Amino acid sequence: MTTASAPKISFVSLGCPKALVDSERIITRLRAEGYELARKHDGADLVIVNTCGFLDSAKQESLDAIGQAMAENGKVIVTGCMGAEPEQIEQAYPNVLSITGPQQYESVLDAVHRAKPPLHNPHLDLIPPQGVKLTPRHYAYLKISEGCNNRCTFCIIPKLRGDLVSRPAAEVLREAEQLVAAGVKELLVVSQDTSAYGVDLKYAASPWKDREVRARFFDLARELGELGAWVRLQYVYPYPHVDEVIGLMTDGKVLPYLDIPFQHASPEVLKRMRRPAAQDRTLARIKTWRAQCPDLTLRSTFIVGFPGETESDFAYLLDWLDEAEIDRVGCFKYEPVAGATSNTLADPVPDEIKAERWNALMARQRKISARRLKRKVGTRQQVIIDQVGPTVAKGRSKADAPEIDGSVYVSSRRPLKVGEIVTARIERTDEYDLHGSVSGF
Ligand code: SF4
Repeated sequence: MTTASAPKISFVSLGCPKALVDSERIITRLRAEGYELARKHDGADLVIVNTCGFLDSAKQESLDAIGQAMAENGKVIVTGCMGAEPEQIEQAYPNVLSITGPQQYESVLDAVHRAKPPLHNPHLDLIPPQGVKLTPRHYAYLKISEGCNNRCTFCIIPKLRGDLVSRPAAEVLREAEQLVAAGVKELLVVSQDTSAYGVDLKYAASPWKDREVRARFFDLARELGELGAWVRLQYVYPYPHVDEVIGLMTDGKVLPYLDIPFQHASPEVLKRMRRPAAQDRTLARIKTWRAQCPDLTLRSTFIVGFPGETESDFAYLLDWLDEAEIDRVGCFKYEPVAGATSNTLADPVPDEIKAERWNALMARQRKISARRLKRKVGTRQQVIIDQVGPTVAKGRSKADAPEIDGSVYVSSRRPLKVGEIVTARIERTDEYDLHGSVSGF
């Protein structure tokens, strides 16, 4: 049991799922040392803000969160992506206790110890071995590497996070196994470039159970698929070796779902973006995957209005979308990010054209998504329950990642539990979601 005098920390986690994993690691360490989490800044011993520095709008959100913590508490430790370039924070809030960049767990803990030392006798065994997760108990993000070897011109992540550093396969598998043992039903594999996993380690093997597992995308996915949880692969690029993983999907080992941030389709734009694995064979590759695994769901993001994007580049993208039939799409209007190489590219696209293209792409995609969703009416789908209500529960099929995709609303004769996986018969769809009733447990 924790004592009443345990130091209390209020934690704000901003940014992407990768930043969330960093937050979870820091919190796990703090809890292991006897710190407690506070619900509010006011009354906490100090506040940690894990920032995001990806877009200017995210930086502003981070600065606002720091400002709020300063006003309500006054003892504030800043970490995360925006901390890699501390000047802006120092200028706005010269009294923050410390500023560190992403993955600098030790420095964050040092700063916490300086500001509020841990209790004398930390109850190390208070913390379950799987750590503290900020995501609900039934799904968890599994970070397999940090950093990125690509140099996309619109992105500053390699500057902030450095080159790719992969975790040995056995370390990832141990964490995954502990999460499953603690009740996690779905593992979301994340990194900046999941398909590049292990390149930096030269795919070195590490000992796992009675065998050696190489740090390779396919080998890791295969082993994760043996743990008995749903395994969802995010941030994958269409390299040829991704083809092998489709077989694991057909065999039901990993979910038939790929999140591939294509960002564009026009070869000219892709060249200026310097995107990895951007060759013209992508459409053919998608068709082969679908032939092999008809249930495959593809999610992607696109940027419209990238400098130099012409009407014909954009028309190419729309035609490509029709052919590729991507199930789920997120679209962004290009926004220059301080420090990105793309800022110096010629022919910026005016804002009103960006907006027009954004509307046109979303309208086209809505039709494609609706068409693909409609095909599911009358089928049976497994659904993992995220939220329960008196008569209808909200969940997700294998085609839906948490937070970014649609939902499945299921009615059931008996009350359902969060994290339970049921079979539902799909009765109707709307623009993004499915509706049905439970037909099996
Ligand atoms: S793949 Fe490109 S966009 Fe993604 S993190 Fe690496 S450099 Fe940035």
